[in-house]
Amino acid sequence: VKPLVRVSGLRKYFHSQQGWFNKTPPVKAVDGVSFDIYPGETYGLVGESGCGKSTLGRSVLRLFDITEGEIEFAGQNIANMSDKQLKPLRRRMQAIFQDPYSSLNPGMTVAQLIAEPMKIHGYGKAQREARTIELLEKVGLKAEHLNRFPHEFSGGQRQRISIARALSVNPEFVLCDEPLSALDVSVQAQVVNILQDLQQALGLTYLFIAHDLSMVRHISDRIGVMYLGSLVEEAPAEMLYTEPAHPYTRALLASIPVADPHVQMLERGGISGELPGAISDWPGCKFANRCPRAMDKCQSQSPVMQEISPGHRVACWLFEEK
Ligand code: SF4
Ligand code: MG
Repeated sequence: VKPLVRVSGLRKYFHSQQGWFNKTPPVKAVDGVSFDIYPGETYGLVGESGCGKSTLGRSVLRLFDITEGEIEFAGQNIANMSDKQLKPLRRRMQAIFQDPYSSLNPGMTVAQLIAEPMKIHGYGKAQREARTIELLEKVGLKAEHLNRFPHEFSGGQRQRISIARALSVNPEFVLCDEPLSALDVSVQAQVVNILQDLQQALGLTYLFIAHDLSMVRHISDRIGVMYLGSLVEEAPAEMLYTEPAHPYTRALLASIPVADPHVQMLERGGISGELPGAISDWPGCKFANRCPRAMDKCQSQSPVMQEISPGHRVACWLFEEK
């Protein structure tokens, strides 16, 4: 089977806007990431806030220009496509974001919100109306909700509206960028169930972003762990939990029961040291200043991703070929 999405050597740098004389180095939000996503799978992408996972997701959808690298979608290289060239592909790649408050226009009704992407992509009126009803039902909302506004709904219901909206145009690939993070734990399971049912029914492929490994365990087929702009480990989901290899993944797993992982993890000593915001040109392993197993080599040389068992890749000098 060929990958639906193929990312290779992807970089996205943000330059500060302070003027030409300001020599602030760019923030390397995504700094050389390669991975594939296969049709029908859920690829979980995990890492602390600020590690670049949202930027990576948005780069894959080409929501902005990237700095360097290749992105293949359904066999086409979209890395350098213009907005005009991307337009016919946009229908096939949709997104659901963390905060359905800010991603849903408060002045539009549910019916308008779900129909809008279809309008953009040229669906006729009758088709839009029929699909809106059908989708509403698929995400567990009722016809009587159609003329209401986003503020009249709970967070979980708003996320259902976002899902219906994203799926209205029949995409193959959906970026789910922390769709559960703003929801109560009891509601999270319902939204996961809806996403999984729809994936089965419609053959969808997901890139599912979360800051917490416990959140992606059951929904993901494979999981990638990101640290400061780089992918540091990738494995089939169960393998990542039973045989975590990278010291960072191990530390993340050690703090799984913590309610607010990225804040409390630091306090609890799951991982010590500061999360270095923008170490741009650090030559060694970016995790070296927090890694309990750092060696001399880690300070000066950046480890490269290598396969340590079938489907299990890790970037760490501890797994250097002997
Ligand atoms: Fe730790 Fe070195 Fe591995 Fe980086 S390369 S994770 S510093 S052991
Ligand atoms: Mg994010």
